[in-house]
Amino acid sequence: MALASRFTKPVIVDEISTPICISCKRSIPPYEKAVAFLCPNCGKYVIWRCRRCRVAGVPYRCPVCGFEGP
Ligand SMILES: [Zn+2]
Ligand SMILES: [Zn+2]
Repeated sequence: MALASRFTKPVIVDEISTPICISCKRSIPPYEKAVAFLCPNCGKYVIWRCRRCRVAGVPYRCPVCGFEGP
């Protein structure tokens, strides 16, 4: 597993100031404690989730590889 090396690469985020929650498609304000992580399956897409969806366990789907996860 060479997963760790992927996280050292720079990640391009188009709308870095207003990320969109992948679960509810809501824009995430900067003051909200949202989480951002690379897709655990392909590692090519930065998945943003707002605090509400993370707490509620709303599933997400990676638009690159179609991976679905909680
Ligand atoms: Zn959300
Ligand atoms: Zn993916």
